Amino acid sequence: MAIRFSWIEAHPTGIYLPSADAWIDPATPVDRAIITHGHSDHARGGHRAVLATRETLAIMECRYGPQSGQGLGYGEVIRIGDVDLRLVPAGHVLGSAQAVLERRGERVVVSGDYKRRPDPTCVPFEPVPCDVFVTEATFALPVFRHPPIGGEIARLLAAQQAQPDRAVLIGAYALGKAQRVIAELRRHGHDRPLFIHGALQRLCDLYRELGVTLGELLPISGLKPAALAGEIVLAPPSALNDRWSRRLPDPITAMASGWMRVRQRARQRGVEMPLVISDHADWDELTTTIREIAPREVWVTHGREDALVHWCREQQIPARELALIGREDEDD
Ligand SMILES: [Zn+2]
Ligand SMILES: [Zn+2]
Repeated sequence: MAIRFSWIEAHPTGIYLPSADAWIDPATPVDRAIITHGHSDHARGGHRAVLATRETLAIMECRYGPQSGQGLGYGEVIRIGDVDLRLVPAGHVLGSAQAVLERRGERVVVSGDYKRRPDPTCVPFEPVPCDVFVTEATFALPVFRHPPIGGEIARLLAAQQAQPDRAVLIGAYALGKAQRVIAELRRHGHDRPLFIHGALQRLCDLYRELGVTLGELLPISGLKPAALAGEIVLAPPSALNDRWSRRLPDPITAMASGWMRVRQRARQRGVEMPLVISDHADWDELTTTIREIAPREVWVTHGREDALVHWCREQQIPARELALIGREDEDD
């Protein structure tokens, strides 16, 4: 059974606009898809036509090959069927957008994934008042309060400087998190070359092409372990404990993720230095955003739906859980 509000429906495979025959972040290939951002639980390959920001379309092409569709700039309005669509910054990763949908005086905002913290690699989230606000709930428990990123980066640089014989290996997801950590290291004055795992190369190149400054990035291939002592290396989380990482001299293993707040997760991954750096809103960001937007109704997806739905109802805001399939925390 679909959950509906006037002209919009939430199905397990995505949010559907019947009068426009368009899906938002659908889990299966469709004729017309509106994609909020490039993470693989939102952007899948195989759609006949894609509407997304130009950056998201470029990310999808980098991951899935050529896409047919249309790249939009933030704020540009396009009519699909009888619905007006505009994409508004979500502050999550480069190109990430909220889909703002309007029809006959009613407005629905599908936020995709979002955060409110500053991020040098993307445009900040913009709150848009609306009737229905569709929000993520990845970190929707009061225990999740992300610390300021500056302190996490400073801790990392202090460890690197204190142990010049070891490499620092940071696990970070290939789309968004890796580039944000690199840009933050630069902002904190780390201007030496950074070393990256091959799996990060293409998206780092694309970020640069799209205007994000990352400084000098080098592969580790061909280097002797001793050459990497005192250096910072970034890799996808899956490479933290595999054979590839054995080439590094006694690495300090770090991981940048909102989940590093949970000690057990850090321990499971063998992470010596957990960095609580998230591209998702924490509890305070979620509740502040809902208060600010003051929607008539909230739809909640992605993670801890129950706690956020409960909070909304306490605030007298009707709220529902959407059971969207295939939403994962690829990005965090
Ligand atoms: Zn995401
Ligand atoms: Zn997501």
